[in-house]
This record gives sequence, C-alpha cells and structure tokens, in this order.
Amino acid sequence: MSQVLGAAPGAVEGEMTIPLAVGEKAVDEMVQDKANEEIPMPALEDDGEFDFDPFDGVDGSSPRWFAMALYFSSQRSWGMFDEMGAAWRLAKPIPVRKLENNRFILEFSVEEEYNFVINGGPWRHKGDALIVVPYDGVSRPSEVIIDSIDLWVRFYDVTVTLLSRAFTNILAKKVSNRVLEIGEPGSDFLRARVSLLLEEPLKPFVEASVKVLGVMRFEVKYENVPWFCFICGRMGHSKRDCSEEEEDGHDQKGYKFGD
Ligand SMILES: [Zn+2]
Repeated sequence: MSQVLGAAPGAVEGEMTIPLAVGEKAVDEMVQDKANEEIPMPALEDDGEFDFDPFDGVDGSSPRWFAMALYFSSQRSWGMFDEMGAAWRLAKPIPVRKLENNRFILEFSVEEEYNFVINGGPWRHKGDALIVVPYDGVSRPSEVIIDSIDLWVRFYDVTVTLLSRAFTNILAKKVSNRVLEIGEPGSDFLRARVSLLLEEPLKPFVEASVKVLGVMRFEVKYENVPWFCFICGRMGHSKRDCSEEEEDGHDQKGYKFGD
C-alpha cells in the first residue's frame, strides 16, 4: 500500500486507488483529481448559480413543515423521539435528522401536529428540556440559534390590590426582557409567559418597589420547568455537573434552591 500512497494521482491506471490513510497533500490531490474527471454536475445557470427551488415539494401533494430541536441536556437522547411521539400524539413516527450538539431537524407532514409541537411545551425528556422551534428548511442549520426556552411563570403571595395584568407585566419584565403573553391573574398569583435565556439562572424571586407598600419580594414558580441545577439555578445540568462552587448550599443572594 505504501507505493499507492506515495504515487502521484493518475500514476496508477485502471483500478481504484483509495489510500487507507490520507495526508493533507493527498486530499488536495484527490480533490484536484476529481475536478479533472468528467463528473456529471447539476445544471448551472449562465451566472454559475446552482438552480434549485427551495420550496420544491413544499406545495402540492407533499407539504412539509420543518422544525429544529435542541435537547438541552448532558444526558443521552436515546429513545427520546419514541417517547415524544406519544407526547406529541403523532399518528405515525416522523423523520428526524440528528445534527451535532444534541440538535435535530424534524419533518412534519401534518400541519396540526407541527403546530402542536411548536406551540406546546415545554417538552421534556428525562426531566431535561427539548426545545423545538420553527425551521424554514432553507437556512443553514448553523444559522438557527436556540438559546432560550419559553415558560409560564407565576408570582406568588400577591396582594389583592396588585392582582392586575399591569402589575404582572412589571414583574414579568424582571425575569425576562421578552414577555410573550400576560395571563389572567389567579387567586393569589400572577401569571405570564416569557422567553428565558438558557445561559441565565432561573430567578427564585423578584422584587418590585410599590407605592405605599415599599419594596416587595415575590416568589417565582415556573410551570412544567425542566430540571435545573440546585447550585447555580441553570437548566441542562445537575448539581453534580455544576461548574460553580457551592457556597454552603447558598448562592450569593442567600437563597437556596430546592427545598
Ligand atoms: Zn449549576
């Protein structure tokens, strides 16, 4: 084989010469070699542009809806989509393409199922978040950034006079700069849907300055929240895998997560 590896491309005629180990130079030569061959290529327009219809197949008989998913976890994702298929009430399994870094491209052929998955959630597998966002199927996968999760948050022990949508908005803005929806106030709590950055710790409480009443602290609870770390308050890893030092079980604000 050493002769083959050292031989110049084209020196060996007829039979295929595929080196077992390919050095940098050899790759260049192989690419060059390929370019010299008469390989049938897709038709090019006059300006050299690759001609294709990005929406080919989207209309007509086989509509498709794409989504990008991120499993925000240090756990393995084996079996995840079997489990999600039931949670998503899919009539039949959907094609899933696995990408790097726990990301996936999903392909739906039923619009109702796509809408349910995109607008529902938060989805969880083994307690960790599976975040699903729309994907146009045309952008490069690397251009689709998934860095946040949408959650309903509740603020508890609110006085009756403050049970309003306006005050909900005030508190919601303290946990996120992207407030998506203000819910109807509950009996003693306020509720809002917000987008939270995954890199940010969950806030266990918020404070607001209220006329006459002064500074008030409200406990925050997150609906269907994926598992988060009891040390730093971030999702996606457990206390065991946390990179932050545990300070006697308390964070800098003196609040202990969990119990
Ligand atoms: Zn942590």
